[in-house]
Amino acid sequence: MPAGTAAWLHRNRCGAGRKDTGAGYHRGMDWIDLRSDTVTRPTPAMRAAMAHAEVGDDVYGEDPTVNALQRRLAADLGFEAGLFVPSGTQSNLLALMAHCARGDEYIVGMDAHTYKYEGGGAAVLGSIQPQPIPQDEDGTLPLAWVERVVKPRDPHFARTRLLSLENTWHGRVLPRDYVAQARALCDRHGLALHLDGARLYNAAVSSGVPVGDIAAPFDSVSVCLSKGLGAPIGSVLLGTHAFVEEARRWRKVTGGGMRQAGILAAGALHALDHHVARLADDHARATRLAASLGSLSTVEVVATHTNMVFIAVDAARLRLLERCMAAARVRVSVGDAARIRLVLHLDVDDAGLARAVAAFSAFESAG
Ligand SMILES: *Cc1c(COP(=O)(O)O)cnc(C)c1O
Repeated sequence: MPAGTAAWLHRNRCGAGRKDTGAGYHRGMDWIDLRSDTVTRPTPAMRAAMAHAEVGDDVYGEDPTVNALQRRLAADLGFEAGLFVPSGTQSNLLALMAHCARGDEYIVGMDAHTYKYEGGGAAVLGSIQPQPIPQDEDGTLPLAWVERVVKPRDPHFARTRLLSLENTWHGRVLPRDYVAQARALCDRHGLALHLDGARLYNAAVSSGVPVGDIAAPFDSVSVCLSKGLGAPIGSVLLGTHAFVEEARRWRKVTGGGMRQAGILAAGALHALDHHVARLADDHARATRLAASLGSLSTVEVVATHTNMVFIAVDAARLRLLERCMAAARVRVSVGDAARIRLVLHLDVDDAGLARAVAAFSAFESAG
C-alpha cells in the first residue's frame, strides 16, 4: 500500500460527499475484493496450463484432461469415480437427484447452501422434498432432531433417503466426531450421506486432516475448484461408479454436458497442484485481519474461521462503511450490519490486506 493511504482516507472522510470518479489518488488502483473467494482470476501460470490442455469431447467421455481431473480427485478423496460439472450448485443438484427419486426427501440445514442458496433446485427440478432443520452455531444439524424427522415407511410420507451436510460451513470446519455420529445415524435408518464440500480443501488445510479422511464417511462429496483453489470454473462430484453414472445422466438432462471442457479441467488440475498448501496463507491473513479489526471500537469481530471473518458494525454507520470501503477500492458485501462476511483468497496479498485494514481504520476515525 502506498504510504499515506490511511491519512488520505482520513483527510477525505472516506470520500464522504465526494463523487467517486476514479480520478486522483486511486487512478488505476485495482480493487481488493473481500466479498467471496469466487472472485479469484486465473494466474498467468494457470492460464498457460489451460491454453496447453489436451482436449476431447467430454460428453463422449473423451476429454483426457477432464478424465485426469476426475481420476485425480476420486483417488485423493477415496471414491470410485468423479464427474466434472460447471458449478457447485449443479454438482449438489446432481447428487440429490442421483440419491433421491421423485417423492423422496432429503434432510438438510436451514442455512445450508444446497437448501437456501441454490434456488430450491432439488424441489424444482428433482421433485425431491427438502426437510430443513435449524443448524447449531457450528453448522451441525442436531442429530436428535434429524432422527425425529426421518419419516416412517408409510404412503402418508415422503421417503427419507438422504442427509446432506456442509464442510466448511460459514468457514467452520465440521467436527469429525459429529460426522461419525451422523454416519451411524444414516446407517441405522438406511439413509445416504452427502457432503457439500465446496471448501473441503480449506477444511483439510486448516485442520491438518487429509481430504480423504474428511470425505471417508460420506457416500458422495461435491468439491468446488472455483472458490479458494482459484480455478475459474468447475466442481467435481465424487461417489461410486453407479452413482456417478446416474449423476452423469442428470448432468446431461440439466444441460451441464460440456464438450472440450479440458481447458477448464486443466485450470482445476493446476489449482490442485499449486494452490492447496497456500490456503494456509488465506487462513493466516483472516486471523491477522480479525486481530486488526478487533482493536477497533467501531467494529465487532463476530467470528473467524479458515478464510472468513464475520464482523458487525452499528447499523447507523453502514453507509459510512460503504463509503470508506469504496474510497479505498475495497469491495465488501455490506448487507446486514450484524453479519458482514470478509473472505480472504488468492487475489488478496499482504498489500491488499493492509489496504483493507487502512480502510477500516479510516472508518473508525470518520463520522
Ligand atoms: C459456492 C458454494 C456452492 C455452489 O457453488 P457455485 O459454483 O457457486 O454454484 C455450494 N456450496 C457452498 C457451501 C458454496 O459456498
